[in-house]
Amino acid sequence: MLKKREQELLLAITIVAFLIFMFAFRGNKELKILLIFAFYFFASLIYDLDSRYPIIAAIFLLISAAIVLSKNEELANNLAIYAYYFLVVGVALQLVEYLREHREEEEEELPELRGKCIAIASGKGGVGKTTIASNLAVALAKIEKRCILIDFDFSMPNLDIAMGIKPEKNLKDFLFNNAEIEECIYYAHGCDVLPTLPIPNFFKKEENVGKLKELINKIKEKYEILLMDFPPGSNIELLEAIGRDMSLILVTNPEKLSLLDSFNIASIAREKENKVIGIILNRVEEEIDVDSIENEMGLPIIALLPEDSMVRESLNKEIPIVSEEPEREFSREIMKLAKFLVRVLS
Ligand code: ADP
Ligand code: MG
Repeated sequence: MLKKREQELLLAITIVAFLIFMFAFRGNKELKILLIFAFYFFASLIYDLDSRYPIIAAIFLLISAAIVLSKNEELANNLAIYAYYFLVVGVALQLVEYLREHREEEEEELPELRGKCIAIASGKGGVGKTTIASNLAVALAKIEKRCILIDFDFSMPNLDIAMGIKPEKNLKDFLFNNAEIEECIYYAHGCDVLPTLPIPNFFKKEENVGKLKELINKIKEKYEILLMDFPPGSNIELLEAIGRDMSLILVTNPEKLSLLDSFNIASIAREKENKVIGIILNRVEEEIDVDSIENEMGLPIIALLPEDSMVRESLNKEIPIVSEEPEREFSREIMKLAKFLVRVLS
């Protein structure tokens, strides 16, 4: 997707071209109508508007034309012509979409990775870490990356629900009840999942941190990516347990305080020499000035995820939305993020 400034520039160019042509063809009504549709086509391309809208409009106009045909033939004719223009715009947009996706697929020769640790972290709870971690894992599995999703949120673990698994044993059993790690890992939607139960005061005991380190080292070689759902907060202990090899992705909502939390966590992570890959802005409902946030934070925004009630519904059904509704904007953005990550990590 284009950045806001690029979109504004392209729209300005399109408007100027539109006005010039409108003036040049001022005497020709048909051409002027064609120009309006051409303008709609380019605006849809620039702002990535849904290509189904013009097709729906065409169907609606055709039905209207059929209804008014017996009473007003001229109006019915005009409606049918507009329906035809909308249809052409819709089909052209679908074609562009198809070609874009096809080209992206062809361009993609994704590199093989080895034991890359990524933490999905945030300042506060409830910003969407678990939702993003689970969907990102499914997206990585879809592009054939061997991935394990680990629940390190020892205060409010819920990855099992997000991934729709009913674990008998979990990380807690591995850490404290001598369970084998293989018994605690479950397969769902193409990737492995290591769930946990709440473990109060986990980090108060130093030996626990040591056990985590051991665990990571044990399973690291088996996977290309280890995706970790972190508890909210800076979690210095977790950073120390996993070490400098781990990169962070910070999830925030597009509010000042949430952004500030991420800024603070990024500073702590950098002190510990952990790489911060970037920020995911989740639950975006209005236009965002990406450039100014990136400048203020000193970090790139690597995904903008829309507010979408389907995300909540999927969670209630215990199926990640990337699996259930791959065509949703949320899912498509997560897919793009997965491919971006693979390239960044290689
Ligand atoms: P965290 O793990 O950071 O505590 P969760 O992933 O559990 O956050 O998300 C908290 C709530 O927000 C959940 O009910 C989830 O469905 C909802 N949610 C997360 N992202 C979105 C989104 N983009 N649109 C709508 N609801 C969302
Ligand atoms: Mg969570």
